[in-house]
Amino acid sequence: MIGFSLTDEQKLFQEAIRDFARREVAPIAREYDEREEYPVQVLRRMGELGYLGVPFPEELGGAGGDSIMAALMSEEMGYVSAGIYLGVYVHVFLALNAIARFGSESQLRDYLRPGIAGQKVGAWAFAEPDAGSDPGSMTTRAVRDGDDYVIDGTKMYITNGSIADFVVLTAITDPAQGMKGLSLFIVDTKTPGFAVARTLRKLGVRASDTAELSFTGCRIPADALLGAENVGFMNAMRVLTAGRIVSAGFALGTARAAFDQSLRHVKERRAFGQAVGDFQGIQWQFADMALELECARLLAWQAAWLSDQGLPHIKEASMAKLYATEMCARITGQAVLLHGASGYMADSDVQRFYRDVKVMEIGEGTSHIQRNTIARQVGL
Ligand SMILES: Cc1cc2nc3c(=O)[nH]c(=O)nc-3n(C[C@H](O)[C@H](O)[C@H](O)COP(=O)(O)OP(=O)(O)OC[C@H]3O[C@@H](n4cnc5c(N)ncnc54)[C@H](O)[C@@H]3O)c2cc1C
Repeated sequence: MIGFSLTDEQKLFQEAIRDFARREVAPIAREYDEREEYPVQVLRRMGELGYLGVPFPEELGGAGGDSIMAALMSEEMGYVSAGIYLGVYVHVFLALNAIARFGSESQLRDYLRPGIAGQKVGAWAFAEPDAGSDPGSMTTRAVRDGDDYVIDGTKMYITNGSIADFVVLTAITDPAQGMKGLSLFIVDTKTPGFAVARTLRKLGVRASDTAELSFTGCRIPADALLGAENVGFMNAMRVLTAGRIVSAGFALGTARAAFDQSLRHVKERRAFGQAVGDFQGIQWQFADMALELECARLLAWQAAWLSDQGLPHIKEASMAKLYATEMCARITGQAVLLHGASGYMADSDVQRFYRDVKVMEIGEGTSHIQRNTIARQVGL
C-alpha cells in the first residue's frame, strides 16, 4: 500500500510544532543570529514540551513518534531558524540517538532521559582538524588503563561544543584496524582533561554554537564506552544515516520559508507597471521551485517510511539529504535575487536563510560523500 497523506496523529503533531516554532522561535531568530549566540532556552523548552523525545520509544522516556514526525519537526523548525534548530538537531538526532540505540541502562538513565527532558545538552564529536569526510584519518585515541580509558585528541567544528554537558565521541581503540578500530564514548564535560579550546565564528547558522574541543589525558570510566569496542564506525554510520533523513526535512523547511517569503514579495513588488510575479519568467521560476520542494518532500518521506518499516534505506537517505540540501541552497539563492537589494540587507530573513543553508551540504557527509554512497549503492 502507498499513501501520500499524513495520519491524524502526524497532522496534529505538525500543527503543534508549527505553532511552537512560529510563536517561540521565529521572534528571536534574527536576534540570536546577530548576537552569534545559541539560545539554549529553546532546547530546554522543547524538552519540557516533550519534543526532544519525538524519535524515542516511550519505554526510554520518549514520545514514541516515527521518522515522518521527526522529519516534520525538522521542517517546521528549519522554516523559522536553521541556526537555532541545528543545536536541537545534533542533540536529539545524533547524540541522544546514539545513546538510545547503543546505551547501557546507566547511560540511558544518566544521559538519555535528562537529554530528552532538556536538562542536559549533548554534542556529537566525530570531526577532527584533519579528519572530516575521511574517518580513517582520525587521530583521537582512547587507551584502556585499568578500569578507565584515557582520551587524547582534538575534535573540530563541534555543534553545542561549548555548552554541552556531555559529548558522544569517536576515538581510536585499536589503531591496527583502521576504521574498524573506532569506538564511541560518552564524555561528561566536567571530566578533568576536557576543554573547550575555542569557539568558532561562521558564515551562517550563527545562532548555533560551534567549538574546537580538546581532550588531554581525559580519564573516563570504562563504562563510558557506548556500545561494543571497535564497532564505533559502523554504529556512527547508523546514527548518521538516520540523521540524513531528518536533515532532509530540515533543509526542506528553510527552502519552504524562502519560497513563501519570495512569493509574498513578488506579489507586492512592482516593476515596469506590474507586479514582479506577473512576469512569466518569474512564474516559471516559482513553478520550478515548487516542483523541487515537492521532490524533496517525497524523497524525505520515502526514506522516513522505509526506515519506519525496518527496510533498507541507505541509498534513499543519502538521496533525500543530497537533493534537499542542494535544492535548499538553490532556492535560498534565488530568494535573495527575487527580493533584489532588500533581500541582501542584514535585516532580511532571506539573506539569513541563504547563509544558513550552506552548512547542510557540508555536515553529516558532504554532497560528494552522499554521491559516493549512492554510487556504491547502485553497484559501483
Ligand atoms: C557549522 C558546522 C557544524 C558542524 N557540526 C559538527 C558536529 O556537531 N559534529 C561533527 O563531528 N562535525 C561537525 N561538523 C563537521 C562536518 O561534519 C565536516 O565539516 C564534514 O564532515 C566535512 O569534513 P571536512 O570539513 O573535514 O572536509 P574534508 O573532508 O576536508 O573535505 C574537503 C572537500 O573534499 C571533498 N571530498 C573529501 N573526500 C572525498 C571523496 N572521497 N570524494 C569526493 N570528494 C571528497 C569534500 O566533499 C569537500 O568538498 C560541522 C561543520 C560545520 C561547518
